[in-house]
Amino acid sequence: MVVGVLALQGAFIEHQKMLEKLGVETFQIRNRSQLDKPMDGIVLPGGESTTMFRILRDQLMVEPLKKMIHGGLPTFGTCAGLLLLAKQVDNYKSDYLQTMDIEAKKNAYGRQLGSFKAIGEFNGQDNTPFVFIRAPYIVEAKEGVEVLAIVNGKIVAARQNNQFVTAFHPELTDDLTVHKYFVDMLG
Ligand code: GLN
Repeated sequence: MVVGVLALQGAFIEHQKMLEKLGVETFQIRNRSQLDKPMDGIVLPGGESTTMFRILRDQLMVEPLKKMIHGGLPTFGTCAGLLLLAKQVDNYKSDYLQTMDIEAKKNAYGRQLGSFKAIGEFNGQDNTPFVFIRAPYIVEAKEGVEVLAIVNGKIVAARQNNQFVTAFHPELTDDLTVHKYFVDMLG
């Protein structure tokens, strides 16, 4: 199993380490041609969504990436990656990739709660650690989207077919539950 990790910006190495612990091979995607390498799944990491999208656009990676996702490639977006996939952000039609039927709120926890940790249930599994860093949450999961985790009444993990997103950063914990879930989505 091979997973490409978008490595334009943000927390990508941590995802590679988690996946490698689970026996999955990974490689970094830094440009258009690396998108053509064979892969069983792709990770869109956390970071800053506007910056990441700008680089994607400058590198002419937006359309090929959308095509791959629409074509069914298992895709895991964390935090900024969630925002890249959401059809709507902050009430507006997103100008990012817009492949997933969710509405997200950016920097949703405000300044005071900008970063925090929680422990909760992920896909029915108790005691999963959640790390939030200037995180979004999902305001609305539309039809066909399965909710996988709720923290403080807000949706923080969801899946629609081949697309899986978390508002938190499982790669910044030593718990492999969430990455295992993604690995199970691979071919
Ligand atoms: N606040 C960031 C954004 O708007 C996301 C933060 C993160 O990925 N940790 O893209």
